[in-house]
Amino acid sequence: MLLNCIKDSSDAHHIARMLLNCFKELFHLGGRDFMMTASLGISIYPNDGKTGSELLRSADVAMYHAKEQGGNTYCYFTDEMNRAVFRCLLIDEQLHGALERGEFHICFQPLVEVQSNKIIRVEALLRWDNHVLGSVPPSEFIPVAEQSGLIDQLGRYVISKALSWASNRMKTSELDFKISVNLSPSQFRDLELVPFIKNALEHNSISGSYLELEITEGVLLQGGAYVDEALKLLNQMGISLAMDDFGTGYSSLSQLRRYPFDVLKIDQSFIHDIISDDADRQMVNSVIAMAHGMGLEVVAEGVESEEQLEQLSQQRCDMVQGFLISPPLLPDALTALLM
Ligand code: C2E
Ligand code: CA
Ligand code: CA
Repeated sequence: MLLNCIKDSSDAHHIARMLLNCFKELFHLGGRDFMMTASLGISIYPNDGKTGSELLRSADVAMYHAKEQGGNTYCYFTDEMNRAVFRCLLIDEQLHGALERGEFHICFQPLVEVQSNKIIRVEALLRWDNHVLGSVPPSEFIPVAEQSGLIDQLGRYVISKALSWASNRMKTSELDFKISVNLSPSQFRDLELVPFIKNALEHNSISGSYLELEITEGVLLQGGAYVDEALKLLNQMGISLAMDDFGTGYSSLSQLRRYPFDVLKIDQSFIHDIISDDADRQMVNSVIAMAHGMGLEVVAEGVESEEQLEQLSQQRCDMVQGFLISPPLLPDALTALLM
């Protein structure tokens, strides 16, 4: 829609409201009622584009932003959005061939049992050092890899590397902790995921009981018959399942009960303020009690201070992970730490 009559940018927002209101009414089609929503992106000449195609591109970017916020709303184009899109495009471009160029490696971060102070898990975390962009954090490149489909290959890379490190370690010493690997929701669309994991375990002569997979609610929300099937199969292989980042998404207790979870990881955003913020502390305490009631072990993520550890220990939190214990380490540094 081209508005050539607006005086300033806020005029566009009245029209956007009116347009959205038009969709409040049901549509009658073939004797049935249908609900439809709209998402609008707004770009303003000349700031957001000097030509028709530039303006359309900016409006498009803003529209996707509106969709990301759940749709049925409108968004103005901003410079920040532009920068974010540009950065994603760069990352996408550089991700192609990055695996072949050997730009990835993994780190391990230890998880410690509170009672015994022993390392009982190590979580594999992916790292990317690109020749153009430098070191890019996973929070930036994982979403792009999920969109482009590259996440399947990356996910397999992490599993192979983590298990091969574990297998090497087993040659010289006892493995008395589990290896945790993160799985993205989109990896569950890959029907070869479970066979791949099975093969990787066999190839490295490691039993499934040494592997823990961390998944977020996204996996469960995405639903689908294959998720149920995959989680059941993984569970039958003796692999344990952890619910990652608990509390950040649409965390639902019924979801936890429906699936064979063993561990619940409370997101670091809740741990961060447990000393200073009563509400956060109460919430963490209840989550721990509730999880225990359901027979789950609890990990607190992002533990950075002795006070936090003490508080969590009082509440009988089972495991902690965070900079207080150790940052993510290169495989050799972990080996040294385990000595
Ligand atoms: P996550 O699974 O929640 O991993 C924990 C993140 O918290 C890691 O960030 C870790 O470095 C950071 N962290 C650990 N202790 C502390 C602490 O005490 N304080 C603070 N502030 N942060 C701490 P990282 O490595 O940047 O990873 C970010 C996210 O990227 C991960 O969050 C995970 O969701 C994703 N990710 C990383 N590796 C993989 C992977 O191999 N596959 C998939 N699908 N996702 C991955
Ligand atoms: Ca994780
Ligand atoms: Ca987490």
